[in-house]
Amino acid sequence: MDFPEARIERIEAHIKTLATFTSTPGSGCTRLTYSKEYSQALGYLKNEMERVGLTISVDPVGTVRARLAGRNPRLAPVLTGSHIDSVFHGGNYDGAAGVVCALEALAAIQEAGIVPERPLELIIFPEEEGPNFGSPLAGSKALTGIYDVGKLKSLENEAGVSMYQAAMEYGLEPDAMPAHILRSSDVHAMIELHVEQSIVLDSENIPLGVVTGIAGMRWVRVRIGGTANHAGATPMKYRSDPMAGAALVISEVEHAARFAAGERTVATVGRISCAPNAPNIIPEAVEFTVDVRDIETSGIEKVIAAVTVKLEEVCADRSLEYEIQERKVADPTVCAPLVVEALKSAAGRRGYPFLEMMSGALHDAAVMAGITPTGMLFLPSVGGRSHVPEERTDHGDIVKGCNVLIGALMELSTS
Ligand SMILES: [Zn+2]
Repeated sequence: MDFPEARIERIEAHIKTLATFTSTPGSGCTRLTYSKEYSQALGYLKNEMERVGLTISVDPVGTVRARLAGRNPRLAPVLTGSHIDSVFHGGNYDGAAGVVCALEALAAIQEAGIVPERPLELIIFPEEEGPNFGSPLAGSKALTGIYDVGKLKSLENEAGVSMYQAAMEYGLEPDAMPAHILRSSDVHAMIELHVEQSIVLDSENIPLGVVTGIAGMRWVRVRIGGTANHAGATPMKYRSDPMAGAALVISEVEHAARFAAGERTVATVGRISCAPNAPNIIPEAVEFTVDVRDIETSGIEKVIAAVTVKLEEVCADRSLEYEIQERKVADPTVCAPLVVEALKSAAGRRGYPFLEMMSGALHDAAVMAGITPTGMLFLPSVGGRSHVPEERTDHGDIVKGCNVLIGALMELSTS
């Protein structure tokens, strides 16, 4: 059977329109979940979904699903989609590419008069990025029951507004979420198409990446306490300076990830704060985060172990106190062979070159993999840049990705 082709002009129109819904026009895409821009973007998409004849539903935390009916309505649907929230000053393709391709895939199938065996559904997860409530993947975690209503109440933005409260103000009823949790039997399989957000596909000049695994991630929060004192009057040997201690521990983060962990382990100290944070005062305390990721849990654990040893040693040497808290954000995920094979054969039928690769970034797909066979399709990020206004993916590559998505959805709909 010949599958329909994605239409580039519709894809381009969607991307261009979605890009207008930002709270920082001219300075990238800033579209926080439940914001005015978020609502406008969803309004536009819902209109487009209705045009395709999809049946739309919204759950109590704001997950949008839009169904193209299948021949057999009793069968569980095949899901495809991503997110439309963004980081501050992010790009126009992260998340949006997957949502737009899902919409175009269903539109092309519907337009060609094809009725798939199973229903096909576009899904848009709220709160994927986590810049406002501090928890990436909060939407898919609520959808799959990992986060309960109490947890949504505890996730707060800088103004002290919880995700629960924000959802209420947006007109949702998060208290009703327990009855809407997605179970394994509710879904047949899931594909998330996403931009790669790294340099591999672009440098290799390959238009598609079939993802075989998604790196797991842990966050560690380290607090080192010392004694605040005068920067001029306190001789070096009488200091217990948490900043100097933190510097040694932070160097160990990089060293451990490079030389003491796995080949693909990455670790980042991306946030540091210091009190009282003044140029002429030895700090009282320094706090920093460590983000560690790997496709193997052992790589993550090796970094955390090495950093903990260093922290104990540095603090003992320098009369500092410390606290360390570890939080598992996601386990490493192996993509389902069912979905990986469907993507590979769809790319093969089209004659598109593809690379089998892992995802270093986390995605809702990693959460969905806990309840259903899940896979991901990557498209090249020009120059490997993402989470910046310059983020771009060639529209020709998006069409290729959408065509592969159409083929894989059709195959999974009969599996
Ligand atoms: Zn994303």
